[in-house]
Amino acid sequence: MENQKKKIAILGSTGSIGTQALEVVSEQEKYLQVEVLTANSNADLLIKQAIQYKPNHVVIADESKYQQVKDVLDPLDIKVFAGNKAIEELMGITDADIVLTAMVGYSGLKPTIKAIENKKRIALANKETLVVAGELITHLCAENRVDIIPVDSEHSAIFQCLVGENLNSIDKVILTASGGPFRGKKRDELLEVTKAQALKHPNWSMGAKITIDSATLMNKGLEVIEAKWLFGLNQKQIDVVVHPQSIIHSMVEFNDGSIKAQMGLPDMKLPIHYAFFFPTRVQTDFKRMSFKEITNLTFEEPDPITFRNLGLAFEAMDKGGNMACILNAANEIAVEAFLQDKIKFLQIAELNEKCMNKVSFIQKPSIDDYVATDEETRIIAKSLLS
Ligand code: NDP
Ligand code: MG
Repeated sequence: MENQKKKIAILGSTGSIGTQALEVVSEQEKYLQVEVLTANSNADLLIKQAIQYKPNHVVIADESKYQQVKDVLDPLDIKVFAGNKAIEELMGITDADIVLTAMVGYSGLKPTIKAIENKKRIALANKETLVVAGELITHLCAENRVDIIPVDSEHSAIFQCLVGENLNSIDKVILTASGGPFRGKKRDELLEVTKAQALKHPNWSMGAKITIDSATLMNKGLEVIEAKWLFGLNQKQIDVVVHPQSIIHSMVEFNDGSIKAQMGLPDMKLPIHYAFFFPTRVQTDFKRMSFKEITNLTFEEPDPITFRNLGLAFEAMDKGGNMACILNAANEIAVEAFLQDKIKFLQIAELNEKCMNKVSFIQKPSIDDYVATDEETRIIAKSLLS
């Protein structure tokens, strides 16, 4: 390992992935240092993190919190900015070595584009970036010779299975899904499920948006699209299997019939750590999996009729163009409405489907088209809610 520490920018440092990434930095402080921290509005935690990790730059997206953050961090020689535009601009000039994208939803897109143009390696947690604009991001990475190292556990698993392999020899990838809190339930059993039930994930502790996406299987749908772009696959090459124990994080089946799987305890620090150090593996003290304790790994077919969002994601991927961008924006509005008790659980997928039918379809979108599609979809989704 080189002597110089790797400089990490963490976009969304106050969230579930962001805080676990900082734990990884603490555990590997010999090799890693923080260059940038950003948050949406949690000023108190952002300040606390900045005092502890001493980044050069901090951005709070919520401009009303700017003064509060600046007053504390300015005397410590930490430069403070505010607003989403500032996150974007900073990514265009930062000299971090790795940018971890760990903010939620569409907000990840523009800063990621800037970081790629600035030739920074991307550790990608924010799957929505690839769902919204996978084609554009993939081209941009190729043009700028930038690598995206996936942090999503399934994609990290596939990525790890592919080390040393030729991408042409992939027959298919098999994404595993825990099935979420409502695994095995049918539509009539889901009519009245509550927010509290949906927020109780059996295996992972995550932010609210992705936890609801896991309960509706939208998360797996978004991951199918994410896999398409990360590994250059077509629809027929992506399978989903429900694996309730979340020990096998995903698999690759090769053209000779051999299948490779990556396993471990469900802990996001593992894929975060892997992305920070790839291609090197570095010793950790993370809790190890024992085959004496875990003696039963099971697999089931997913149910895309009950969990309509998974079917919608495959349809959006098939259609191409801006359809996945429409699905993503509709879903962000739908999940927010569900979290505010404005709609019921099954209405999330209904709203998504309506938006996919209503919003203008564009076969070859530019970046401006993606931005316009996101805006149009949000307006239509909100009008359908009122
Ligand atoms: P959280 O909700 O826990 O955290 C989100 C972070 O992003 C927070 O720091 C939040 O700031 C910030 N943020 C939210 N909205 C904005 C915005 N509009 N502008 C700027 N910053 C914003 O999310 P997670 O950590 O769970 O997820 C982050 C990403 O990683 C998502 O794309 C998710 O799909 C993906 N992912 C997460 C996994 C997990 O285990 N959690 C697993 C695999 C992927 P603040 O705290 O101030 O609100
Ligand atoms: Mg995942």
